[in-house]
Amino acid sequence: MSTSFFGKYIVPEAAALRNTDSYRTIPPIDDGAAREILYGGTRLLNLASNNYLGLSAHPDLIEASAKALSRHGCSSGASRLVTGNFALAETLEAELATFKYQEAALVTGSGYAANLAVFSALADRHTVVFSDRLNHASILDGIALSGARLVRYRHLDMEHLEQLLGRERQVAKKIIVTDTVFSMDGDVAPLARLVELGKAHGALTVVDEAHATGILGRGRGLAAALGLSEDVDVHVGTLSKALGSQGGYVAGRLETIELLRNRGRSFVFSTALPPAVLGASLAALRHLKANPGEGARLMRMAKAIRDHLSGLGFDTMGSTTQIIPVACGRNRVALHAQALLRAEGLLVAAVRPPTVPQGTARLRLSLRADLTEDDLRRVRLGFSRLRVSFFP
Ligand code: PMP
Repeated sequence: MSTSFFGKYIVPEAAALRNTDSYRTIPPIDDGAAREILYGGTRLLNLASNNYLGLSAHPDLIEASAKALSRHGCSSGASRLVTGNFALAETLEAELATFKYQEAALVTGSGYAANLAVFSALADRHTVVFSDRLNHASILDGIALSGARLVRYRHLDMEHLEQLLGRERQVAKKIIVTDTVFSMDGDVAPLARLVELGKAHGALTVVDEAHATGILGRGRGLAAALGLSEDVDVHVGTLSKALGSQGGYVAGRLETIELLRNRGRSFVFSTALPPAVLGASLAALRHLKANPGEGARLMRMAKAIRDHLSGLGFDTMGSTTQIIPVACGRNRVALHAQALLRAEGLLVAAVRPPTVPQGTARLRLSLRADLTEDDLRRVRLGFSRLRVSFFP
């Protein structure tokens, strides 16, 4: 009976969770994507969102979104394969494909859904997927959904990947997948070597450019930055971070996209994105094409902040991008540091297991291109003060 299940399992499990330091609540935030966020009514500088270029409030996106909304209404009404299609979606896909130097693209409801679509369409129980140990959860969930066997290699370790590929020589269908910029570490995959290994072992290569699109390679991602667009088979990403909108995409060869359109479960069995979101995404993409230098400017800003933090003795965990972790170790230390920074007017994320491995809790700053000189001064000052309270 459901009440006995509720009483026997749900109530005690919720109570046990409440007593741990990994318990989650939704923070009392309003205006969550803005440069300055309202936290319980107090204004804080927002160093915790993925709105890296501040595009979510850009007038061009708002205008395009409002226009699509007033022309087509609030919903797409069905999945793309039934009646949920719009000319806007097709234009967005055509422009995304070109932007990524690919033949075709498919837009999905989120970046999470994009990874589910990729693996449910391209992998099966006869496939082995080689995945960086720190790849995003949506990649792991996609692999689980596909029934493929997961083989995890040590973070960024191409020698380990090569060894594991060698052990699976008899397997015909192999896929190698990596985030390009890692969401909790801000470090970058060794893509040239990974592509070489993929070719040598006949493996399909899949990259998730969620945190690189809009930033690296004049906005086109790490593969483009390294001149590897044509060598990587499948390019996944999101429209919800630097593009300031919502949704995900997959770009690649025509036949790859054909399989996704037919078999990608999160694409086939889910209502299409609404017009307002498609309008904003297309405007964001056009903004990136017209302003290719914004990502590089953000990377320079990030380097200056990382240098400041390292100078203070903080460990930024190998980050080379706009995502800057500060190692804390224990959950309580991360939460305490977060609270101290909040008192300085700064909102940073305190990331804890299971999002990151046990014992590696950290602060995570995500910098954004719309920070002013004064904002950056506040960030430097806040961390200098944190240093004093931590190690007086
Ligand atoms: N891939 C990576 C690497 C991510 O970091 C995220 C979001 N945190 C996603 C996919 C999912 O994208 P979305 O938020 O658009 O669902």
